[in-house]
Amino acid sequence: MCGIFGYVGSHTASPILLEGLRTLEYRGYDSAGIFIPGSGVVKAVGPIDNLAKKITDTIPGTSGIAHTRWATHGAPTEANAHPHKDQSENVFVVHNGIIENYSLLKESLKVQGITFETDTDTEVLAKLIGVNYHGDLLEAVKSSLQLVQGTYGLAVMSDRDPDKIVVARLGSPLVIGIGKDGHLVASDPSALVSHTKDVVYLNDGDIAVIEKDQYSITTLKGENQNRKAEKIEWDLEEIKKDGYDHYLLKEIMEIPTTVENTIRGRLISDKGRVKLGGLEGYIDKLTSLHRLTITACGSAAYAGEVGRYIFEEYADLPVSVELASEYRYRTSLVDPKSAILAVSQSGETADTLAAIRLAKKQGLNTFGIVNVVGSTIARENDAGVYNHAGPEVSIASTKAVISQVVVMAMMSVLIGRERKMSLETGKEIVQALVELPNAIKNVLEQKSDIEAIAKKYKDYRDFVFMGRNAHFPIALEGALKLKEVTYIHAEGYAGGELKHGPIAMLDKNFPVVAFAPQDHVYEKMVSNIEEIKARGAPVLVIANTGDDQVSRLADDVIYVPRVHSIVQPIVSVIPTYLLAYYIGIAKDLNVDRPRNLTKSVTVE
Ligand code: GLU
Repeated sequence: MCGIFGYVGSHTASPILLEGLRTLEYRGYDSAGIFIPGSGVVKAVGPIDNLAKKITDTIPGTSGIAHTRWATHGAPTEANAHPHKDQSENVFVVHNGIIENYSLLKESLKVQGITFETDTDTEVLAKLIGVNYHGDLLEAVKSSLQLVQGTYGLAVMSDRDPDKIVVARLGSPLVIGIGKDGHLVASDPSALVSHTKDVVYLNDGDIAVIEKDQYSITTLKGENQNRKAEKIEWDLEEIKKDGYDHYLLKEIMEIPTTVENTIRGRLISDKGRVKLGGLEGYIDKLTSLHRLTITACGSAAYAGEVGRYIFEEYADLPVSVELASEYRYRTSLVDPKSAILAVSQSGETADTLAAIRLAKKQGLNTFGIVNVVGSTIARENDAGVYNHAGPEVSIASTKAVISQVVVMAMMSVLIGRERKMSLETGKEIVQALVELPNAIKNVLEQKSDIEAIAKKYKDYRDFVFMGRNAHFPIALEGALKLKEVTYIHAEGYAGGELKHGPIAMLDKNFPVVAFAPQDHVYEKMVSNIEEIKARGAPVLVIANTGDDQVSRLADDVIYVPRVHSIVQPIVSVIPTYLLAYYIGIAKDLNVDRPRNLTKSVTVE
């Protein structure tokens, strides 16, 4: 998820490595470290500057690997920072991604007498490569990777072979740079451009050996790969945004990968169950709850509202959702058989933090869904689940919100299967989660059509978003995103509420975005759309593919695939993210940094 940089050449490595890390810092960091053969490892928590301060004298050595971490397993401490080493302190590893089967591998290594110093999945890989090292680093990495499930961008060095870096890629990018006096490797080409524009992209399943004057690439199976160098044509800013014009669009387009990362290693398909390591030890508590109170702010609160529908329907668990800023200041009558579930991307949201502190005083267990590992909320909760959504740069949250709902769907299986959920339903939901990334891709592929719709709607001053059931909070979320990114006034309403007031506002200048998936309230939504049409308001409907009943009524339709009802709200909200983005662009606004907003709201 974060940054890797490596160099082997004729110059002193340490300044090159530090500079490489600095260009990767924009992706988010919590700690960093470098390894230089013969000189060992230096690590520091916090920004790269903290690491740089520790490297006052230039470290001798003309090769090395470096890492900036965005923790997924284990808090952002110095011990957990990369590089990690093997038992005999010969092999050093930096890694981006998640080793899914790390606990199984860890257990089998422990049986062999290997000991562990960190909480990371990466250390397990370092120890495994060490065990498999018999003088040939490439072979050691290759044979170890045969045993690994998960994703990795990997750079490995051995003290015994200082002029060689072994790199491998599966699901986490790596690119080799052809420098003048040596070779480089980075997880992101932006880190290479100050050295070279000639690069070789690795593919999934590739493993390569990089030396000063040469590099060779094979697949894990041993097939030679004769890949030619390509010229980087993009400038630095474009590379950072992965070729997209804005982080917001990049992060929307990343949603399928985010979902894959959120569910990785957590689904047990044949049993229709999920495994959430962070909640182990609390399963009995969760299943015996009489009520769950979800507390959050902004989009996370809407994700929580979707969660309410999910938990009540599938986990048979009554849920209330409380805005953290309200919960903390009101007199709440505490049900001792309830618990709190705090949802926060940053894990630092001031109001949410205050809400969990209050709940603790009230004697309740507190659980969390947090994206940033080791953040305050993550530490103060009794237990929780990390989203694994990776760093989110755009202020308007998209991929993190989606991952929050995905976690709640998984939690509903965890709790539901201990209660009334059948094996069959468990299996169906697990399968729906597996298929979710593809369904989202299908929506993202329609981005040019959505862009055209955005241009048509960009000059309206007011919008209503409307949905029923779990699509009611999706309407609130769609409206919020439009407000944040485009400054257009937008409101979210439950379909049934329209005629209790807001319909009075509607006319030809007041469009409605209606969610009408083919669920049990579909016909009700169709009637609502008829009512709106009768008032002359333009209607944009988000409907299931193949539904031509609504297309006859609507002015515009965006079709989304029909999926299991537990994940339908996720698929349905995606067009509204693209709509907000493209309207923002059409209005020439700074969509990544909307005015008056900040990413992590650490004040109340
Ligand atoms: N899973 C690894 C860890 O938590 C790597 C995280 C990253 O990609 O930075 O240390």
